[in-house]
Amino acid sequence: MKAWRLRDFGDHRLVEVPIPELEDRDVLIKVKVVQASVTDTEVLKGKAVALTSSSIGKRLAEGKPVQRGHEYCGEVVETGKGVTLLHIGDRVASPAAVYCGSCRMCLLGRHSECLSPRHLGGDILGAFAEYLSLPEWAAVRIPDGPTDNEVAALQPLSSCIGSVRSAGIEMGDAVVVLGQGAMGLGILQVAKLAGAGRLIAVARRTENLDLSKKYGASSMINAKQTNVVEEVRRLTESSGADVVFDAAGGSTEHGLSGLETIRQAFKMVRPGGKVIQSAVLTGSLELDTVFMKRNKINYINPLTGTSKFLELAAFWVARGRVQVGPQITHVLHGLEKLPEAIEITENKAKYSATNPAQVVL
Ligand SMILES: [Zn+2]
Repeated sequence: MKAWRLRDFGDHRLVEVPIPELEDRDVLIKVKVVQASVTDTEVLKGKAVALTSSSIGKRLAEGKPVQRGHEYCGEVVETGKGVTLLHIGDRVASPAAVYCGSCRMCLLGRHSECLSPRHLGGDILGAFAEYLSLPEWAAVRIPDGPTDNEVAALQPLSSCIGSVRSAGIEMGDAVVVLGQGAMGLGILQVAKLAGAGRLIAVARRTENLDLSKKYGASSMINAKQTNVVEEVRRLTESSGADVVFDAAGGSTEHGLSGLETIRQAFKMVRPGGKVIQSAVLTGSLELDTVFMKRNKINYINPLTGTSKFLELAAFWVARGRVQVGPQITHVLHGLEKLPEAIEITENKAKYSATNPAQVVL
């Protein structure tokens, strides 16, 4: 089969490799659609942004294969002897982290807090290939409803659901979502379903704010033209928002805000409110501990997307209660087009993309 393998940071090659062999509880999945996350694009270049990049560096040093890709839609084409949950022909997607199933947290049913998770595209060979093999509990059956392209975008949406769940939104809460890329638009729609009252979308691109409005934002703030902290305070009668999500932070090279938006978040949340760091940030953040303590700010690193959230993401997309389809604007054909898709994902503003570019196999 053909697969994109990372030989070293910056050295990503399309190679011919054997189709993976299955253990008893593994399934073989034929990839139908795959997209590169922003994290993928950074890991490929060796930027130390990703939580997984140090373990990937270790794998490369040990000469072990690295095959990225965790946002995909696939079909089960073969099952191991002990597989009971999935069947040949099932359409599947996966959470980014595969829980171990045997640690204390897993035994308590808290899979997203697994003590020894393995990452798809890191410790496990990912979906930048024609086939991948996974333990059956790492693949979630996706019923008819969402298109294959939408299914490939469900994993990030499942993380949005994790973020909103961690925020514990109360009915009527004033909620701010900083950043209206794929993550921010997902969080916005899920926060609305969770009972948000005033729902404030903040972005630098007007075309994204148009989508925010369509998806139910009550106020749209263009961060290029407006002092966001002052505007949020004005919209919340000076008290500040109950909940602020940072979905804009991350590498400034890729048009993200660095640490700027998380700092703004602390200034626009009300005393006792919650700041949710949904974005993958880089570097160290200095906190004014007196300010944080005095204002009783809850700084939350949220749950990530579990299998349960992935199922819920599929259920909502199938019924139109959350939309990912309109964000998918760049679809390429053929696994060899992956570098082009990565280029678009790395420079979304330049290409007027919101969702990562997809590759159909
Ligand atoms: Zn575990």
